[in-house]
Amino acid sequence: MSSARLSGVGVSSGRASGPVVRVAEPLGEPPAEPVPADVTAEAARIRPAADVVAERLVARAAQAIGDAKAVLETTAAMAADPALLGQAEKLVTERRLPAARAVHQAAAGFITALEAAGGYMAERARDVQDVRDRLVAELLGVAPPGVPDLASPSVLVARDLAPADTAGLDPTKVLALVTEEGGPTSHTAILARSLGIPAVVACRGILASDAAALLVDGDTGAVQASDGTVRAAHVAGKAVWNGVGVLRDGHRVKVLGNVGSPADAVAAAAAGAEGVGLFRTEFCFLSSTQEPSVEDQRKAYAAVLAPFAGKPVVVRTLDAGADKPLAFLEPDPEPNPALGVRGLRVAFDRPEVLDRQLEAIALAAKDTGADVSVMAPMVATAAEAAWFVERARKAGVERAGVMIEIPAAALVAREILAVVDFVSLGTNDLAQYTFAADRQVGAVAALNDPWQPGLLRLVKLVGDAGTELGKPVGVCGEAAADPLLACVLIGMGVTSLSMNHTALTVVGAKLASTSFDLCQLAARGALGAHDPASAKLAARAPH
Ligand code: PEP
Ligand code: MG
Repeated sequence: MSSARLSGVGVSSGRASGPVVRVAEPLGEPPAEPVPADVTAEAARIRPAADVVAERLVARAAQAIGDAKAVLETTAAMAADPALLGQAEKLVTERRLPAARAVHQAAAGFITALEAAGGYMAERARDVQDVRDRLVAELLGVAPPGVPDLASPSVLVARDLAPADTAGLDPTKVLALVTEEGGPTSHTAILARSLGIPAVVACRGILASDAAALLVDGDTGAVQASDGTVRAAHVAGKAVWNGVGVLRDGHRVKVLGNVGSPADAVAAAAAGAEGVGLFRTEFCFLSSTQEPSVEDQRKAYAAVLAPFAGKPVVVRTLDAGADKPLAFLEPDPEPNPALGVRGLRVAFDRPEVLDRQLEAIALAAKDTGADVSVMAPMVATAAEAAWFVERARKAGVERAGVMIEIPAAALVAREILAVVDFVSLGTNDLAQYTFAADRQVGAVAALNDPWQPGLLRLVKLVGDAGTELGKPVGVCGEAAADPLLACVLIGMGVTSLSMNHTALTVVGAKLASTSFDLCQLAARGALGAHDPASAKLAARAPH
């Protein structure tokens, strides 16, 4: 692409340039051939390779802090796990497999067992996969997958970045991120914003490009070859926030966390979340094959609510289906699962499942002292909203609201708000359904950009309805995690913002620097824009 320009979706602001470093992709399953001539010698290669992998991880852990350090230390310990290594050696000596294939196969057994155990154990399966890929790469003599150690400031180019890839990423060395896949709501987008580095996702063709250096514009999404000059984006010091969501003129906007596990809840509380705006309960049961009992649900919810005693927490009832299938709530086969029986629609068929969940939520609220509200996902009409509120109240939950993530619900927001206590905009799904663009498909990611004026105008309808009826309107989709967009949302009448814990500080700090007047100006500018790039420019003008 010497002179060509590529473009993707700009998800984290700023312009930066520098030499390219590519993130190696995970290797597939290594071949079972050739059969080793000397199986004892082949098996003896495994432990030294594991030592090298473990040493590298220990060295990286020594330089990392916090979560990243813990992730790297756990992975290092796993690389030296005698059970995994012993199993692999046996596969070489008894089944005559090459060492790399044996490691892959041995790890598969552990991964399946961990996934079947569910919960915390299932989360460890990802760590075993990581160790497996590193060991296999070492045995094959190729680059290990994931983000390499950067010797000097570089622009990282990847297919996509998994959460584990990003542990230990050094923001002083990463000038910018460009990914071929992913979308505005991907992990890369959230992480890049929290680190303050420019990022462009869904940049088709970037993997095929041979550019040695790139200039990346995280505002417009433009990516082009550069002469190799190193230029970092201007970062105005590390953001600081005191944990209270308030604009400089005193206008209050609650800044809340999105959580799906006890670890998320601890991280959100530690980062200063004033409460939880979205607890995705389905994340507690992704590996459950049977409906968890009321008692099991009570315990699972209480573990997440515990860090928020006395604070507001919005617990969303199960949002099963489409990209988050739950084995115990599988619908009949559907041609378009995202448009089928998902979210609250599952409860219309099986109200007893919803009732048992509401009962468990009410019990967990009592156990922990969290100030709990409930919220239904995938609501299309005011009648559906009223149906949910009635069941919630019967179960003893005082405050009940619904998500606005279907365009029809935004269009009748006034009628919905009349029958609920609050609404929360799920901008991820609202974008997907407004633009008829699957949120998981990179090829249509530009349509799912939350800066699209079409989406913003729907949000405005809901904000206006909330202001008119004097009821809270939150945003819990990824739009809330973009500091500039957060200002636009507030200017449209949004009263709370809920996000991944990594975004809390940057968003909280941004709010403290702006005023309600400026937010309204930004909103007016963005609403009148014709495309996402000019919406951003218009929002930035008053800021
Ligand atoms: C959304 O759709 O914006 C949302 C917050 O819900 P989820 O991402 O869990 O579908
Ligand atoms: Mg949703």
